[in-house]
Amino acid sequence: MKDNYADSEKQIYLSLPDITEAEKQALLAAFDSGYVAPLGPQVDEFEARMAEYVGRSHAVALSSGTAALHLGLLNYGIGPGDLVLVPTLTFAATANAVVYTGATPVFVDCGKDTNVDPLLLGQALATLASEGTPAKAIMPVDMLGKVCEPGPLLELAEEYDIPIVWDAAESVGSSRAGKMAGAFGECAAFSFNGNKSMTTSGGGMLLTDDEEVAERTKYLSTQARQPVAHYEHTEIGYNYRMSNLLAAVGIAQLKRLESMKKRRQMIRRRYQDFVAQIPGVEIVGGQWQYPDGEDNCWLTAITVDSKVTGWEAAELGQYMGSRRIETRPIWKPMHQQPVFASHRAFLNGNSDWLFETGLDLPSGSQMSEDDLERIFTALTQFTERHGK
Ligand SMILES: *Cc1c(COP(=O)(O)O)cnc(C)c1O
Repeated sequence: MKDNYADSEKQIYLSLPDITEAEKQALLAAFDSGYVAPLGPQVDEFEARMAEYVGRSHAVALSSGTAALHLGLLNYGIGPGDLVLVPTLTFAATANAVVYTGATPVFVDCGKDTNVDPLLLGQALATLASEGTPAKAIMPVDMLGKVCEPGPLLELAEEYDIPIVWDAAESVGSSRAGKMAGAFGECAAFSFNGNKSMTTSGGGMLLTDDEEVAERTKYLSTQARQPVAHYEHTEIGYNYRMSNLLAAVGIAQLKRLESMKKRRQMIRRRYQDFVAQIPGVEIVGGQWQYPDGEDNCWLTAITVDSKVTGWEAAELGQYMGSRRIETRPIWKPMHQQPVFASHRAFLNGNSDWLFETGLDLPSGSQMSEDDLERIFTALTQFTERHGK
């Protein structure tokens, strides 16, 4: 995916940064203040505002969501020889973070809504425990922005007495069961990558209620320096902290998050209205009621039952591509990835089905009315031509 290049009017992308004069002014003000590198008052303010928004005691601004996942796992002592349960349907970063610690991801399949299947997760936990190699952590992922139903996951973590490092990279701004995304689990990771629902151009955050975890995350993310003048090091650290300039952009984005979320929700509703007329096509995650939804609608995806439609998701994707409109299959499951081929996986067929029949549609809040019109015109032309 490209970022905001000059020709972005021509190509419509899945999800581009939604940035305005406000972000530019915030960035320049931080620049002019002299707090250019690396830390400064905007990092502190961004953390305080985000912690309050999510309802957590602490937030630590980092260089990426992946860094937040990595340090989250390290905080709970995950390392070589440990098994960590990861959804097979996710972006590779979730599983990569496990591998960075020296631990091994074990994959678990999802429900039809793309989020990890709690029943199968329970079976995986029980199986690993019965084999004498119990899992050491669980990493639920809020797929496409929808927060996993927390109850069953929290119960399993309690039953097996293991921490949850929650991958909320895609769900910034969503909520569920009366709490914001990022509020669930021992700690949670946000991503502010350019394609997410808010961006710092690149960045992430670790959210937790545990002060020790927050402090240790700050320490590990700044090269694990002991607080002495000559920089004593007693363990390996990382260079994972967010720059003050990017935190300034984050503050401006957070102020606009609610309005950006509303726009993605509006786009979801328009796709829903369109899809409702096409038998065999469904919105992933089911129909969603605006304005009561708790979903940030980061990406809208559809599944296509080609036995009903007479055409496949990939054919629609190809057609949209020919109209310079980006679409993409839903994440290729980790158990199908060559790099993880030898890893154990608890499967039920849903992630394979979603990969085969699913398609992510352009969902960015920065899209203009003209962009949306082009998308719906193309969808109409394709479905009318291929209609039964
Ligand atoms: C984007 C994403 C990440 C990684 O975030 P970065 O900020 O790009 O490192 C992790 N997990 C999921 C599910 C994501 O979508």
